[in-house]
This record gives sequence, structure tokens and C-alpha cells, in this order.
Amino acid sequence: MEQDTVDISVGLKGMIRFPCHRSSKMLVYEGTHGKASMECPICRRICIFDYDKMTSRRGDKIKGAVKALI
Ligand SMILES: [Zn+2]
Repeated sequence: MEQDTVDISVGLKGMIRFPCHRSSKMLVYEGTHGKASMECPICRRICIFDYDKMTSRRGDKIKGAVKALI
């Protein structure tokens, strides 16, 4: 069986923890810039990750943001 895995330590820039649950974390790699939202795997809260500042904040009004894209 073919395994589609990568070495998670290669090119690693750092780690950002979720603001709501510090035990949940995201690994960030070199070359990653800007911001992205991610749902907390524990409480399902939307959090915004800033890959340049390596920080995270709780998101708000995600429904309005998604609506604006459609
Ligand atoms: Zn959470």
C-alpha cells in the first residue's frame, strides 16, 4: 500500500496554538504568508491564523464573510 506522508519537520517555520484551546496547534512552514481561518478541532470555533506574525485570534462573523464570497 502506498503511503502519502511527508516528514513534518522539513521546512518547519514554527507552530501556532489555537487561541481557544492551547492544546490544539498548527504547524507552519517556510514560505507561508498571510492569514487563513481554521476551525478548532475541539470546540469548532473559527480562528484566524496570521502566518507572518505567527499569532492566532478568535474569528467572528464567518457567515457574513462566506456570504460575501459567493
Ligand atoms: Zn477550541
